Amino acid sequence: MYPEARYDVLVVGARCAGAATAMLMARHGLRVMVIDRAAHGSDTISTHALMRGGVLQLHRWGLLPRLRARATPAVRSTTFHYGMEPITVAIRAQDGVDALYAPRRTVLDGMLADAAAEAGAEVRHGHSLAALIRRDRGDRITGAVVVDPQGRPRHVEAALVVGADGIGSRVARLVEAPVQRESRAATAAVYGHWSGLSAEGYHWHYAPGASVGVIPTNAGQHCVFASVPPERFLAGFRADAMAAYRGLLRGLAPALAAEVAVGRLESRLWAFAGRRGFFRQAHGPGWALVGDAGYFKDPLTAHGITDALRDAELLAEAAAAGTERAMAHYAAARDALSLPLFEATDAIAAFDWDLEALKAHHQALNRAMKLEVEFLAARAAAPMAESV
Ligand SMILES: Cc1cc2nc3c(=O)[nH]c(=O)nc-3n(C[C@H](O)[C@H](O)[C@H](O)COP(=O)(O)OP(=O)(O)OC[C@H]3O[C@@H](n4cnc5c(N)ncnc54)[C@H](O)[C@@H]3O)c2cc1C
Repeated sequence: MYPEARYDVLVVGARCAGAATAMLMARHGLRVMVIDRAAHGSDTISTHALMRGGVLQLHRWGLLPRLRARATPAVRSTTFHYGMEPITVAIRAQDGVDALYAPRRTVLDGMLADAAAEAGAEVRHGHSLAALIRRDRGDRITGAVVVDPQGRPRHVEAALVVGADGIGSRVARLVEAPVQRESRAATAAVYGHWSGLSAEGYHWHYAPGASVGVIPTNAGQHCVFASVPPERFLAGFRADAMAAYRGLLRGLAPALAAEVAVGRLESRLWAFAGRRGFFRQAHGPGWALVGDAGYFKDPLTAHGITDALRDAELLAEAAAAGTERAMAHYAAARDALSLPLFEATDAIAAFDWDLEALKAHHQALNRAMKLEVEFLAARAAAPMAESV
């Protein structure tokens, strides 16, 4: 075993939740190590539409110019297609945000990891969490065993270990974090990245039992997804995912389907079989969870990254304060802001609505998003922007 290294915080997972948390904690002056078993700038299974709260966070942290510099297109409207009825909502300028963005995860996660390193965090890709350590076999987590790319274990001591390691969080499993709530619904999704498409803005299409959508992204490409309940996924997509995907596009969005028919698929066709949403306990002695590790909701409302960026800031502040009270505040704020989003998402993901009921669910989602944006905007005076 390598000699011990000591940190204030070890963050496990260096994507939108973990890299943002590490960056903000380092900006608070904490000594931070952040590890990820994946490579820097690698892709992951996720479409990547950011909502206003997520863009507001990147703006407040001084990172929006970097996103624009990577030719991430500005999204200036969202169109909801209820059957053949389109309703377009323009993105109005507010709190320094005048557009939405949907950066590829290769762009966003890499950019956040770089910003974490610039803030002073030690960023290590290709490193895996193997075990957690409790000194003297007490209750409190006091460190971890981290395995480097050569397979060598290293003992890392940290006052706080943060699990930002996604849905199947190993940190959550090792600390036996209780699941506090679960959703009733889960949707499956298939998506790919296409060149040769013309859509501007986000477009979400809905019909009973299915949804498709298009998201403009980097390199002039569009992410095109189709979502269905898991039973329909098993019945149709397992046999021939591409045929089922094209069939759904033709049924819900014929003009988009026609463009896809002559477009070029630039990525693999990704498939997600669905997973019920959950809240796990957000923290315990010497540990905390952030992003999907602590709170996951169905991807159909495209809000996971936005919430991960929100909670990165709340957790970083709590860690900087360094008290149990501050950690309890993190958990309470996460839950209060997330619950309305979680419930509205669950209602939409259940696919048991008609189009009029869906509009009502979208209104509930919109109210929850507004609450989140108001909360974040009210923190605009907080010393979070880059100091250079
Ligand atoms: C199909 C699909 C579509 C989606 N679309 C959207 C969307 O349009 N908009 C949106 O906002 N959200 C979307 N989401 C949700 C979004 O992907 C998640 O909310 C987001 O990825 C959570 O980020 P995270 O950093 O918490 O976890 P992750 O992105 O899962 O990152 C976790 C990281 O932890 C690392 N890790 C895991 N275990 C270990 C270990 N033992 N040691 C070291 N490293 C480890 C992994 O390598 C990984 O890089 C979608 C999700 C899915 C599945």
